[in-house]
Amino acid sequence: MKYLFVKVFMVLFLTSLAIKLNLCFSSIPLSLRTVVLDGHLSFVDNEFAAKDFGNQYRYSPLAVLHPKSVSDISTITKHIWQMGPNSELKIAARGRGHSLHGQSQANRGIVISMESLGRQKMQFHIGSTCYVDVSGGALWINILHESLKYGLTPKSWTDYLHLSVGGTLSNAGISGQAFRHGPQINNVHQLEVVTGKGEVVNCSESQNTDLFHGVLGGLGQFGVITRARISLQPAPHMVKWIRVLYSDFSTFSKDQEYLISAEKTFDYIEGLIIKNKENIMNDWRSNFTPQDSVRASQFRSDGKLLFCLELAKNFNTEERDLTNKEIQRLLSQLSYISFTLFTTEVSYVEFLDRVHTSELKLQSKGLWEVPHPWLNLFIPKSKINKFAEEAFGNLLKDTNNGPILVYPVNKSKWNNKTSLVLPDEDLIYLVAFLSHAVPLSNGSDSLDHILKRNKQILDFCETAHLGVKQYLPHYNRQEDWMHHFGPKWEVFAKRKSTYDPLALLAPGQRIFRNVLVNMGHSIE
Ligand code: FAD
Repeated sequence: MKYLFVKVFMVLFLTSLAIKLNLCFSSIPLSLRTVVLDGHLSFVDNEFAAKDFGNQYRYSPLAVLHPKSVSDISTITKHIWQMGPNSELKIAARGRGHSLHGQSQANRGIVISMESLGRQKMQFHIGSTCYVDVSGGALWINILHESLKYGLTPKSWTDYLHLSVGGTLSNAGISGQAFRHGPQINNVHQLEVVTGKGEVVNCSESQNTDLFHGVLGGLGQFGVITRARISLQPAPHMVKWIRVLYSDFSTFSKDQEYLISAEKTFDYIEGLIIKNKENIMNDWRSNFTPQDSVRASQFRSDGKLLFCLELAKNFNTEERDLTNKEIQRLLSQLSYISFTLFTTEVSYVEFLDRVHTSELKLQSKGLWEVPHPWLNLFIPKSKINKFAEEAFGNLLKDTNNGPILVYPVNKSKWNNKTSLVLPDEDLIYLVAFLSHAVPLSNGSDSLDHILKRNKQILDFCETAHLGVKQYLPHYNRQEDWMHHFGPKWEVFAKRKSTYDPLALLAPGQRIFRNVLVNMGHSIE
């Protein structure tokens, strides 16, 4: 009886496996199954590649490439390129799939899991300029840990470090250090890229410059970043982490602007909007525990709109007294509500990896895998007050479903030759609505409600002619992409026809659906 059960089970298992494999393999070009690789192509159990952080789009790939070498990526891309325009196969590099709208997915195409390549060894160069060569699949958190072994650190960060190098360099990589160092795309010396024709090309400011600029902020359109040379500087041990509150937006933003332009200033400058919140010091994004935590926990916003300036100053333990004096001097120039100064001291790693601590808590409650209808905007300084009045004052009813970040950066420190699109002013604000939706809710925390609010914000920006640009942009129609890129569109489309003329790469961005012959004219 026992053996009969095992036999029946085995037959059923093998039949279902055969059906599964047959279903998959029937639509896979035979040639793809026979390509010789150092790593491998996987045709089953690829559900992870049909998901992302946004949790709103799901496109299943035909196969996932787990590359062990750059030549694996080149071989597969070349293979599909040689299949010509009639093959419908597209290729998406996937860092960690932290995209919001399916940007790292490939519907019935090939997803390259960059994580496999990310395991390659990092090469440090210590000299008059310090840098590290890392794989495009490396995570920033691992770069931090490895660099610290040499007393070094990258200069520019994102708020969350479990993102891949290729993923953030395809966007920009922005955090509270960007006012000084520019975004991560400004802190890269050199890249190795596999183009849409499968060619492996090294590029930098002095070699294949057009490709270098195109790929940085290029939304994965011109090549797969397989290696990057990241600029490093000496790492501090500790961080003074400070929050102060304002009741008035223009005073808050005036102080932010003062700080980002001051000679000797903080090392990190961001800001948060607080509306109708009980625990004003915490949100899912960071676990800020000030020294005076009892006083902080008693503080209530009482339905008022408050603005929280978030600052950090790096220091080494022996410089504590000097750093405290410097902080006192800077704070004395600011006009925050006097009894709302909250400070704490954490290690450099703890500060940079602050979002991950919250991620682990949310994951344990199943709250990380909910839809994230985020909206990120760059707003010109001249329009920020108008935006704040309408968006924070009127359109925003509460902020219980996610933090809202607001901070200025000085664009003159940013390289304007990259593909990143910014408003046409020197001083711009990043405003990030980092909402999460509650599944099955019909209320103000539902996906529908948040998407409607996002649309209202975008419509307001459009009708009020605020000259806003989306960060981590998402559009479905090419006209909207052309509008987004504005005068940069022509160069962007030309680069596409040069480096990826069959429009194989990063189809999830929905910029180029068809084969290009030149200058954005499609032939299909
Ligand atoms: P993926 O989502 O996997 O890929 C993003 C895009 O890049 C896709 O189009 C993909 O095809 C392409 N791509 C991926 N790898 C490569 C490669 N090697 N070569 C070429 N193209 C590639 N961003 C900020 O700037 N600042 C922040 O502070 C910040 N905080 C965040 C916090 C959280 C919790 C999350 C989830 C995201 C945050 N982001 C932030 C956004 C982040 O930069 C994007 O999600 C970005 O897409 C990186 O994620 P990823 O590495 O998983 O890339």
